[in-house]
Amino acid sequence: MSESVIPDSEASLRDFRSEVRAFVAQALPHGVREKVRLGLEVSKDEMIDWQRRLAERGWLAPHWPRDWQGQGWSAERRAAFQEELVLAHAPETGGISIEMIGPILIRYGTPAQQQYFLPRILNLEHWWCQGYSEPNAGSDLASLKTRAVRKTRPDGTEVYVVNGSKIWTSYAQYADWIFCLVRTDTGARAQQGISFLLVDMRSPGIGVRPLVGIHGWHLFNQVFFDDVEVPVENRVGDENAGWAIAKSLLEHERLNLARVAENRRRLAKVRAIAAELEESGQPLLLRPWFARRYRELEVRLEALAATVLRFRQRARAGARLGPETGMLKLLGSRLIQDIENLAVDALGPGTLAYDRAAHFEPATPQPGQSAYAAAASARRFVTRGYTIAGGSSEIQHELLAKQVLGL
Ligand SMILES: Cc1cc2nc3c(=O)[nH]c(=O)nc-3n(C[C@H](O)[C@H](O)[C@H](O)COP(=O)(O)OP(=O)(O)OC[C@H]3O[C@@H](n4cnc5c(N)ncnc54)[C@H](O)[C@@H]3O)c2cc1C
Repeated sequence: MSESVIPDSEASLRDFRSEVRAFVAQALPHGVREKVRLGLEVSKDEMIDWQRRLAERGWLAPHWPRDWQGQGWSAERRAAFQEELVLAHAPETGGISIEMIGPILIRYGTPAQQQYFLPRILNLEHWWCQGYSEPNAGSDLASLKTRAVRKTRPDGTEVYVVNGSKIWTSYAQYADWIFCLVRTDTGARAQQGISFLLVDMRSPGIGVRPLVGIHGWHLFNQVFFDDVEVPVENRVGDENAGWAIAKSLLEHERLNLARVAENRRRLAKVRAIAAELEESGQPLLLRPWFARRYRELEVRLEALAATVLRFRQRARAGARLGPETGMLKLLGSRLIQDIENLAVDALGPGTLAYDRAAHFEPATPQPGQSAYAAAASARRFVTRGYTIAGGSSEIQHELLAKQVLGL
C-alpha cells in the first residue's frame, strides 16, 4: 500500500484537527456520543450508522489506496484523525473489516476477490469477524486444528470441506463473513500447513454459540464448522501459505496498540468522575490516595505518548519498526487497566450493582450516585482483555526479552 502521501506542516495538521472536530460535532448523534462517553455498549445499528456517516465524508478507510477511496494522508494526519475521533467519544470505526481483512485483500487478494469484497466493506454491506484462535490454539496459534480438506463436487467445482471450531470470535453474531486460518496439510511443520480462507457465515454447517463475558457483554462467540463447504476461489494466497498472511496483519496498526488517545480519554473520564465526588468533606481530586494514583497515571501516559511519538518519527525517517513496538502494546494496555481500576475505586460500592439494561442506555443515576457508576465495573472487566488480545503480556515479554534484549 505504498503511495505518495501529502506532507503535513504543524499548521495544516492543526487545521485538519479543527475540521475533524467540526465534522464529529455535527455528524455524531448525541445519544451515541453519550453512550461512548459513559462506557456503554453501542449497538450494531449505531456503529453502522456512524460508519456510514464517515463513508459519506470519505473518511471510513482513509489509509486505503486511492483506488479504494483512500485519502493519501500522512501517518501524522491519520494519527491525528484517529485521536480526534476517540477524544470526541466516537464509536470504533470498523476495526476488523477496515483494519484487518481490507488491507489483507488489497495486498494478497486476487483481482476477483478485491472486486467483490472491497466495495462491500466500503458500503458496509459486509461485517467481518476474525477466526484465528481455537480452544487449544491461542498464544501458540500455529497449533490450530480446524481442518480443511479439498473435494470435487459432482458438478466439477472444487471446495474445501471445513471442520473444527474457532473461539473468542469477537462480534461473530453480527458477521456476514469470517476469515479463518485452517489446516490444509497435517504432515508439514505447523506453520507450513495453514491456509487463509474467506467463509460466508450463511454457509450450511456453521453454528455460532454466544460466550457472554464476566462484563456481561456479548462480545465473544465460539464458531463451529461442521462439513462447511468453501469454494477454493475463497482462499487468499497459495495453499499452505496462510501463515505469512496471518502474521502480516500484525504489521497494521502496530503503533496504535499503545492506545494513547483512548488512554487520554479514559483518564479524562476519571478526572470528570473525581470532580463530581467528595470524600471526608474534601474534593476527591485533593484526597492524597486519589491524587497520588491519578498523577502517577498521568506521568505514565505522557511517557507513553512521548515514546510513541519517537517511534512515529523513526517511521517517518524511513526506519524499520522492529519488535520493540511490543513494548507500546504492553505499556498502553496495562495503563488502561490501571485507569479503569482507579475509576472503580473512586466510584466505590455504587459500581457493584449489576444491571444489564444499564449497559445499553444511560440510566438516571440513584440519588448521590454518579452517571458513570452503572457501567464502571463492566468497563474495567472489558479492559482486562486488553493485555490478552493481540498477543498477551507474557508473550510480549518473551518477544522483547529474546528479540530486543537478546536474552
Ligand atoms: C478482547 C479479546 C478479543 C478477542 N478477539 C478475538 C477474535 O476476534 N478472533 C480471534 O481469533 N481471537 C480473538 N481473541 C483471542 C486472543 O487472540 C487469545 O485470547 C490470545 O491469543 C491468547 O490465547 P488464549 O486465550 O488461548 O490463551 P493461552 O494461549 O492459552 O494463554 C493462557 C495464559 O498462558 C500464558 N502463556 C501462553 N504461552 C506462553 C508462553 N510461551 N510463555 C509465557 N506465558 C505463556 C498467556 O500469556 C496467558 O496468560 C480475543 C481475545 C480477547 C481478550
